[in-house]
Amino acid sequence: MTSSSSSSSSCLHDVVIAGAGPVGLFLACELALAKLDVLVLERAESPEAPLKAPPLGTRGLSIATAEALHRRGLLDELSMATGAPRQPRAGHFAGIAIDAARIDRSGWKYHLPNPASNPFAADMGSVESVLAARAVALGVDIRRGHAVTGIDDHGDEVAVHANGLSFRAKWLVGCDGGRSAVRKLADFEFPGTEPEFTAYSALVDIADPEKLRPGRNATPAGFYMNEPGRLAIADFDGGAFDRSEAITPEHLQAVLRRVSGTDVTLSSVHLATSFTDRARLVTTYRKGRVLLAGDAAHIHSALGGQGLNAGLGDAMNLGWKLAATVRGNAPAGLLDTYHAERHPVGEWLLDWTRAQAAVMRPDAHGRALEGIVRGLADTPGGATWFAEQLWGVSLHYDLGGGHPLVGRSAPDVEFADGSRLAFHLRAGAGVLVDFDGSQPLRQAIADWSDSIRYVAGGATNELGLTALLVRPDGFVAWASDTAAAPGDVEPAATRWFGLQ
Ligand SMILES: Cc1cc2nc3c(=O)[nH]c(=O)nc-3n(C[C@H](O)[C@H](O)[C@H](O)COP(=O)(O)OP(=O)(O)OC[C@H]3O[C@@H](n4cnc5c(N)ncnc54)[C@H](O)[C@@H]3O)c2cc1C
Repeated sequence: MTSSSSSSSSCLHDVVIAGAGPVGLFLACELALAKLDVLVLERAESPEAPLKAPPLGTRGLSIATAEALHRRGLLDELSMATGAPRQPRAGHFAGIAIDAARIDRSGWKYHLPNPASNPFAADMGSVESVLAARAVALGVDIRRGHAVTGIDDHGDEVAVHANGLSFRAKWLVGCDGGRSAVRKLADFEFPGTEPEFTAYSALVDIADPEKLRPGRNATPAGFYMNEPGRLAIADFDGGAFDRSEAITPEHLQAVLRRVSGTDVTLSSVHLATSFTDRARLVTTYRKGRVLLAGDAAHIHSALGGQGLNAGLGDAMNLGWKLAATVRGNAPAGLLDTYHAERHPVGEWLLDWTRAQAAVMRPDAHGRALEGIVRGLADTPGGATWFAEQLWGVSLHYDLGGGHPLVGRSAPDVEFADGSRLAFHLRAGAGVLVDFDGSQPLRQAIADWSDSIRYVAGGATNELGLTALLVRPDGFVAWASDTAAAPGDVEPAATRWFGLQ
């Protein structure tokens, strides 16, 4: 793979990515792993920003995200970067904590205990620095201080304008966040619902802390969460606050007083950020040679912490499909499965956050809903269901049926040499696991030897599987628990990997 070090109007990049946030960087890693020429254009001059550091920059990451990072050998690197061991986090729904002790994992048959078994937390700064370092090591050219301001989709390539320069690309992916310029420039439809509240997250000192109740508090005007040195407030103002304005201490104190119904005084505000529950989703994830991923494709409130998880899932789903398309060995329609598989996840995500806004609504309906959700979350079945959603355990792509594992995250089986399936996925190829190694399956995938690795024998297999075809993103394309013949695996291999 090559990367350009100068403005490159004559150089045709395989993919230009707008945005070096976590989603753009992870996608860059995926594409560079497949040896594509990738240029990332980032608006900000510097990757450093106070809101990327803990605690306000801390993000809850799901099991689905942990698995994606584990499958690329990035999970331990991220733990080292955060400087803290991964701490399991159960999460919450509308501020109602899910009790980890009530979660029953016995039904998660295919989620074998492994290094990615638990959700955890990491700050945005660490996530981005680990991904940027990997991307650069793989040869990606990241240009900071380059805001994308114009695009021309010529049908066979895209011209991307940034910083007075023009860059040529076979494909452009907008990973440029909730206010995506790419989404607007390419005229993607972006329907959705308007906000009910403005939420604030802030690091503060309070002159008279006894005036606020600790913990989560629903009030007639909204909701506030009070922890030492830190406040979260939802002000049901219909999203009226102009978020392009700075959050002044006076404004934050006025909101806090109104929402808490007290005359509490903030003695200082160290850092503050805001978001609303405006929820919008593009109607298509691709228009011509322009694709979207992450917040560029879906915006919603930060309640319940799912946006980054969804965005990294978009990148993992798109990377290998776009790479195969660029290389010219994608089966027909492969790239369209990106929209088909990820748009429903976006729809779920918006509804998940809308439901939380309804539970927090400061009226009798909201209180009634909250009581019901609280009651459900207090049961083992309810806590387990919430965890399945929050942690990405329920994530399932409709790949057309067959074995119950098809379309689900592959079990991280361990082999006799101590390696796990995740290790065999690191190169970004598909994997055919032949559990006893005695079947003639290796021959069946001989035509796909560049895109499917064959791993045989010695796997611990308490699941009763005989064979498993896993896509590069770690999702199961085909599985069998009876003696399998080459003719069984070939249709799935053809469908997902095409012919060389
Ligand atoms: C308070 C808060 C708490 C959250 N908590 C969680 C959580 O616990 N778990 C979770 O999963 N998610 C959480 N989220 C959501 C999560 O932070 C986002 O979903 C995630 O950052 C999206 O990543 P992204 O790469 O798509 O976009 P961004 O992180 O917004 O990155 C976009 C990048 O594009 C750049 N850019 C913008 N415009 C241009 C342009 N024109 N040209 C070039 N570059 C451009 C930006 O500078 C930026 O670097 C939270 C969000 C907030 C606000």
